[in-house]
Parts: sequence; structure tokens; C-alpha cells
Amino acid sequence: MTINTSLEDSDLSISAIIKKEQHRQSTHLELIASENFASKAVMEAQGSVLTNKYAEGLPNKRYYGGCEHIDEIEELAINRAKKLFDAEWANVQAHSGAQANFAVFLALLEPGDTIMGMDLSHGGHLTHGSPVNVSGKWFKVVQYGVNKISHQLDMEAIRELALKHRPKLIICGYSAYPRQIDFSAFRKIADEVGAYLLADIAHIAGLVAAKAHPNPVSICDVVTSTTHKTLRGPRGGLILCKNAELGKKFDKAVFPGTQGGPLEHVIAAKAVAFGEAMRPEFVNYCNQIICNAKALAERIQNRGISVISNGTDNHIVLLDLRSINMTGKKADQLISEVNITANKNTVPFDPESPFVTSGLRLGTSALTTRGFNAEAFCEVADIIADRLLNPEDESIKTNCHNKVINLCQRFPLYDY
Ligand SMILES: *Cc1c(COP(=O)(O)O)cnc(C)c1O
Repeated sequence: MTINTSLEDSDLSISAIIKKEQHRQSTHLELIASENFASKAVMEAQGSVLTNKYAEGLPNKRYYGGCEHIDEIEELAINRAKKLFDAEWANVQAHSGAQANFAVFLALLEPGDTIMGMDLSHGGHLTHGSPVNVSGKWFKVVQYGVNKISHQLDMEAIRELALKHRPKLIICGYSAYPRQIDFSAFRKIADEVGAYLLADIAHIAGLVAAKAHPNPVSICDVVTSTTHKTLRGPRGGLILCKNAELGKKFDKAVFPGTQGGPLEHVIAAKAVAFGEAMRPEFVNYCNQIICNAKALAERIQNRGISVISNGTDNHIVLLDLRSINMTGKKADQLISEVNITANKNTVPFDPESPFVTSGLRLGTSALTTRGFNAEAFCEVADIIADRLLNPEDESIKTNCHNKVINLCQRFPLYDY
């Protein structure tokens, strides 16, 4: 064995498991709303020699020598991120979405300050004030939810909560909210109570880049994101803002505040993904994601399964399984048996526990990457409805499984 030995020759165990995972991805319908399939170009950059390099600091201000090419890469990544999202400043070093949020908290808050974010069970994220996360342990948390009838944000209720608790930071942007976010309405509230406003666009970043969702960068004090959801890049985080002076605080909060050496191989892959997202094909892709989600929601509803907020504006369709007397846990299991991957999810005001739930969250970004159009998504909706409405019927189960395999063959994933 030398450093030139291939993975297959040097570690058959890992190499064989990767092959199995590759097979799983290509033979299952991926409907997890936070997942996507990165391009070979993105994965090639991520699997490159850049993983060998330490580059603590920022381009041209490093603590190590030999960074001249790394600097070029990170500068390209930063400039592309700024251009793509119309930002004055960008940090591309955050290792993940959670790390990006943590850095923002370190930059703007002191322990004991009050933050306001959406309740996890209504579609918020763990890092927005959940008691098990640092955001909930170190800060006083005020949580808002959606309206009980519309399942949409009620800006007047949010304003009243903000006026009552005067948070130092308000967070908008969610993990399971199928509607557009009115960032300007949040801005008004933040200004009224003197709060910073953070938009966490982890889920919708691709749609924002493609102008298929309003862009919060010019409206909010800071915007955080992942790069691997609708944006379709490598697994990673991103911080953007309109104010370069404030941006320096976030740079310091990422390094040395909360991280050590940046993952320059991932940063190169982020740059590749940003480049891809600037192309017209990506705009078409994002418009197709939304068109597909609308088709999926409509067909599922026509089959008698309710959808939270009665539809969708983005890539997310959240099934309300109370309409068919089923739990999210059961539905997740039933679709898994026919090679469909999604996740059980709480619905607003869920009577079930987070381990059981009454919802199933579906997202269209991954299958849209495989080339699925609205017609194909209607077939997907029918397979899901057939399976959920006939949980005991073995012949329908077999039929659903065959249809999934057929769709996977019609829309192949990577051409390995
Ligand atoms: C996914 C997500 C995150 C966390 O991203 P990771 O890369 O998993 O750390 C943060 N915020 C929101 C709203 C998300 O959906």
C-alpha cells in the first residue's frame, strides 16, 4: 500500500459500502426536502488534494505558508457568493448551517440575551432556540408559530410577541415551511423593537439564487445558509451580509471564534456550485422544483390527503396525515418499504410526539435534479397515495415498488 493505492485496493470494506450507497441512491426515490444530488464537478473538487492544506485565516491573511492557490480559490468562492446573492460580504468557511448560525450568535449576542425564532414543531430549526441546542441553552428563547387555521406566518401575532419580549435577535427562515417568507414584514418588526434580523435560508438558498424566492440579503442584517440543499453544492455553510463592516465580525466569529482550519476542498466545491447556480440551466431547474412541488401537492390533495397550508410556494410539501388517520412514523415506514425516502415531521399543533408525528415532509429538489417533471411527480404522488391509502394490500405494495423501480430507470442518476 502506498498513498497512490486506490480506495478499492486499499480499503475494500469502505469502497464496497460506498458502492452500496450509490446503488441505494439510484434505486430509491429521494424526497427528503433537505437533500439533493451534487454534480460530479462539485464532488471532484471536494475529493481533491485541497483537503491537504491548512489555511487558517482569510485570503491573503493566513497563518500558514503555501496558500497562494488556496487564496485564489477562496476569493473566487467569496466573489461568486457575493454576486449570486447580491451581497456586499460573504464568509464561505462555515462548516455547516448550524456552524454558520453559531457564528452569528457569537458575533451579535451575549449569553442570557433574548432571541426569537420559530418553534421547531411548526417548521423551525434546532439552531433557532431549541432547548437541546446551544441556542436554547445560552439564550432566553421566545418562539413563534404559524396561524392555527392558515398554517402560515401571522405577522401581527409575531409583532405582538416581539413587542412584549423585545428580543435582541429575530430569526426567520425554516426547515419545514412551504410558503414564501415576507422578509420586509420581519424587518419592520425588527426595527420597531431594535432587534437584529437573521434570515436562515438553508432550505431555500437555491430558489433565492435563482430569483424564484425573494432575496433577504438587502433586507436582513445577516443571512445564513447551507450549500447542500436546494443550492445543490457540497455539504457546508455560508454567511452573507449587506454590510462589510458587520461582516468582519462574522469572519472573526467563524475563525477563531468557533472553528479552526477551513475545509478548502469544500470551499472549492462551493465555488463550483455557485458557478453552476449562476447559469440559466439552474434558474430553469429551480423553477421546475417549484412547478413539481405544486403538481405533487395538488395530486396528493386530489387523492384525499391534506397538505399543510393547502399548497406550496417552494420545494416543500408537508402532508397532514391526520386527514387519513395515520401517523408520520407509520407513513415513513410504509413508503420506505417501496423504496421511497422521506421523513416523518411534526405538523403545526401536532397532537403526536416528535418521534411519532402527524406529518410527512416531502421535497422536490433531489428528484428534479434527476430530471423528474410535473408529470413524473404526479406518478410519484399516486404511488405515495396508493401505498398510504392501502397499507395492508400486498399486491398494491408490489405494484408501488415496481413503479418506483421503473421511474428510477427512466430518470437515471449519475452515469457511472
Ligand atoms: C438544515 C438547516 C440548518 C442546518 O444545517 P446543517 O448543515 O445540517 O448544520 C440550519 N437551519 C435551517 C433552517 C436548516 O433547514
